[in-house]
Amino acid sequence: MGLSIAYHLVERGVRDIVLLEREPMWAWGSSARSAGGVRLEFSHPSSVRFSQYGLEMFHSFEDLFGISASFNPCGYLFVTRDSQRWNIMVELAAMQRTLGVPVETLTPDDVRVRYRYIHMPDIVGATFCGLDGVADPGAVAYGWMRRAQTLGVEIRLNAQVTQITQSGGRVTGVVTQDGTVIHAPVVVNAAGPQARSVGALAGVALPVDPYRRSVYVTDTFSGLPPEIPMTLEFENTSYIRREGRSILMGMSDPLEPSSENVETDQESLEKLVGTVLSWVPALEKASIMRGWAGLYEVSPDGTAIIGEADSLPGFFYAVGFSGHGFMHSPAAGRVVAELITGEAPFVDLTPYARERFQHQTTHETFVI
Ligand SMILES: Cc1cc2nc3c(=O)[nH]c(=O)nc-3n(C[C@H](O)[C@H](O)[C@H](O)COP(=O)(O)OP(=O)(O)OC[C@H]3O[C@@H](n4cnc5c(N)ncnc54)[C@H](O)[C@@H]3O)c2cc1C
Repeated sequence: MGLSIAYHLVERGVRDIVLLEREPMWAWGSSARSAGGVRLEFSHPSSVRFSQYGLEMFHSFEDLFGISASFNPCGYLFVTRDSQRWNIMVELAAMQRTLGVPVETLTPDDVRVRYRYIHMPDIVGATFCGLDGVADPGAVAYGWMRRAQTLGVEIRLNAQVTQITQSGGRVTGVVTQDGTVIHAPVVVNAAGPQARSVGALAGVALPVDPYRRSVYVTDTFSGLPPEIPMTLEFENTSYIRREGRSILMGMSDPLEPSSENVETDQESLEKLVGTVLSWVPALEKASIMRGWAGLYEVSPDGTAIIGEADSLPGFFYAVGFSGHGFMHSPAAGRVVAELITGEAPFVDLTPYARERFQHQTTHETFVI
């Protein structure tokens, strides 16, 4: 997110940009642990537009940045066993189609015929979008990093922000852990899972909490078709997709409390395997080769929080992407750059307003 914002700013002619990363390596947080999924199905039209911009950029990434985003248009298949959820999915599919998303609504029989690896007797329906797919977050971050540096963005590693300074009601800069003071009329919080604590340094409440998500990859596996969509089932929040000749699988555990734990463990592996085998029994013959865990940065309604703090002009944030921050990072970088330079954002940012939490909000449907 930080690299995308820096790139979109420098491309607009903004200079004197410093990107501060507390770790010894750039793109070392959630972005290094993402499953790389990119999809157009969202509950808010603005989020659909966010994904469309991301998809366009990933398609033309090599022309723009000299490195391929390795986009694989495998499609996204969401399946559900819940008739209430299905009604919402059908309504949202109609909205998505008005925005040019070719999403199909599939009957249980369609799913049985087209996706024979799914064994779900109580399936109610599914949606499929063939424009969706998977890209490489590391390559994307590298492309932005290289361009941003070429255009003069300074990247400082091992530079944890420990203070955000202000004067006369405006932000004036930051201080890093070694005491370095950086004066700046604009500071952007793009701290991913640590967004809440960085917001607190500025006295700006950002309700974002880290939750562990684990991903495992099988050894080479020929028991499923060589091409399958990213396939997600809502009720147990599990998903599978191809990772080369292997299968990558992941799951959310709604009972796991918020933490910054990024270790994998036997318990999460067993839960995931048990769940996935319940609807993709062919995987019984697969063996797990490796796995990793990372942090989702979750907002109360599963939608990002983007804007400038009313209480502290000059302090911006692009946080709380709740598991879809990779696919939304191109658009988020663009809108933050537009806000900073005083341009009208290319999409309506109302769904992302921090102030929405004072009212009832609508939870994003398409979150796993
Ligand atoms: C297992 C898993 C699977 C995922 N799958 C997908 C997917 O399929 N598709 C998708 O779109 N998204 C996915 N996501 C979500 C996506 O990875 C995140 O939304 C995205 O990477 C967030 O990017 P970010 O730049 O905001 O956060 P990060 O990449 O975490 O970057 C924030 C950076 O801020 C740094 N930082 C924190 N505090 C400070 C400080 N005080 N000073 C300086 N630096 C600081 C951190 O070290 C970190 O490097 C997945 C996430 C996980 C964990």
